[in-house]
Amino acid sequence: MYLGIDLGGTAIKLGLFDQELVCIDKQTAATNSLAGAAIVLKNLVTAIKKILQDNQLTTNQVKRIGLGVPGLLDLQNGISLFSPNFTDWENIPIIAILEKEFAIPTVIDNDVRMNLFGEWTLGAAQELSDFVFITLGTGLGAGVVINHQLLYGATNSFGEIGHLNMYREGRPCACGSSGCLGRYVSARGMVKTAADYLAEGQPSILRDWLGEDWQQLTAKMISKGFDQEDALCQKVLQETGEIFGFGLVNVINLYNPKKILIGGGMAKAGERLLAPARRVIQQHALKISAAACQLELAVLGSAAGMIGAASVAAKKFA
Ligand SMILES: [Zn+2]
Repeated sequence: MYLGIDLGGTAIKLGLFDQELVCIDKQTAATNSLAGAAIVLKNLVTAIKKILQDNQLTTNQVKRIGLGVPGLLDLQNGISLFSPNFTDWENIPIIAILEKEFAIPTVIDNDVRMNLFGEWTLGAAQELSDFVFITLGTGLGAGVVINHQLLYGATNSFGEIGHLNMYREGRPCACGSSGCLGRYVSARGMVKTAADYLAEGQPSILRDWLGEDWQQLTAKMISKGFDQEDALCQKVLQETGEIFGFGLVNVINLYNPKKILIGGGMAKAGERLLAPARRVIQQHALKISAAACQLELAVLGSAAGMIGAASVAAKKFA
């Protein structure tokens, strides 16, 4: 048996998998990411104990645990250095903590790469040698596979597409720079674009839905407005899709992937976002590279991280 875990900002998703990576049981527990590291770790340990108990397994029947953790990691030493959505979470020796508690060998990687591994094992990237996986959620994360290898780089930050510079002086980014792709193409970025138009006084159905409480604006609402032919929502998705397209032109020209897969919650915007991106790619990317590359949605949804973590635990890519 292998245990695959996705430690997310809101939920801990756990999946128990057999030797063939068939899912035997899956469970979800609350993370309480704002309650501090001690509580989050306690919730994680309790959730692991529960799934083992419910399946009448002892710890020596689980060969390995794979765990996806958001944020920066020290992979060599098994330490979660920093996670932007977790309160009081710094330099957590997460492998040592779990191995001490359960005596099950544990491997970690970041959440985006675990999602990528999931799509590579059982999703839309099976058998692919060259592809790029992008998660569009609150922010924009990515992983790059070239010649059957997921690339990490000198400091594990290979393929940080979210920080491609799209404007020399654009929106400020948490990385210290400005004008980064993820500041425009992400749920947060798209909401900012819409809020800027609303602040300029442009008419929109969003006003009827929100009143003056623009804090409640979500990417999902903008998609809904698009479907109701609201001009502002259509403009926001069109613009976001075009900026995404220009970012992907750089990605295609740099990496020459066979597929670019889009996952994460905002992938639900689908063709509303991808259609304008495709047009930009067709016009601007190197022709032969663009013709060889498919832009597609990921298929595993929110289960990808858990499946990927299990596949890493099973050493499918070691
Ligand atoms: Zn940045």
